Amino acid sequence: MKIGVLALQGAFLEHKKMLGQLGADAVEVRLPGQLEGLDGLIIPGGESTTIGKLATDYGLMEPLREFAQTKPTWGTCAGMIFLAKDIGIDRQPILGVMDITVNRNAFGRQIDSFEADLPITGLVGEPFHAMFIRAPIMTSVDESAGVEILSQLPDGRIVAAQQGHLLATAFHPELTQDNRLHRYFMDMVEAESH
Ligand code: GLN
Repeated sequence: MKIGVLALQGAFLEHKKMLGQLGADAVEVRLPGQLEGLDGLIIPGGESTTIGKLATDYGLMEPLREFAQTKPTWGTCAGMIFLAKDIGIDRQPILGVMDITVNRNAFGRQIDSFEADLPITGLVGEPFHAMFIRAPIMTSVDESAGVEILSQLPDGRIVAAQQGHLLATAFHPELTQDNRLHRYFMDMVEAESH
């Protein structure tokens, strides 16, 4: 199984490492041609405006959009912003493929980073220790378009969702030792390839 990690900026090395530990062939993607032959793609956390600017400069926007329209793609944090169809008034390049509405600066400066133990649909065992770093939030998801909520904060705010082959998480699973979400994504990739 060959999974790409968009490697323009942000926490791509940690994703690559975790995929490698789980036995996937993980490759860094910086050029459109590197999307060829991939079974899935992770768009990491970082700074979504920077990722968008670099993706535009490298001619990656349209190839990434085409990829994410049909192949398993997982956006974490800034990557989730990148997948969303609606990010409010912000004007920045995004792929706009997933029927979620995202608020980029949901937590403000006072609590720009925090951790929470979250139950996540589809993961067995203990709650997932989720790290939020200047995290965005999903203010709504279009359930009529097939988006499923996988996890919410105790106050109801949505932090993980899936729409068929697309997965979005507001937090950083690659910064923990818990590889269950990476395994979950690899199961999605496996399911799509049959
Ligand atoms: N706030 C960042 C953005 O808007 C996302 C933060 C992150 O990916 N950790 O892109």
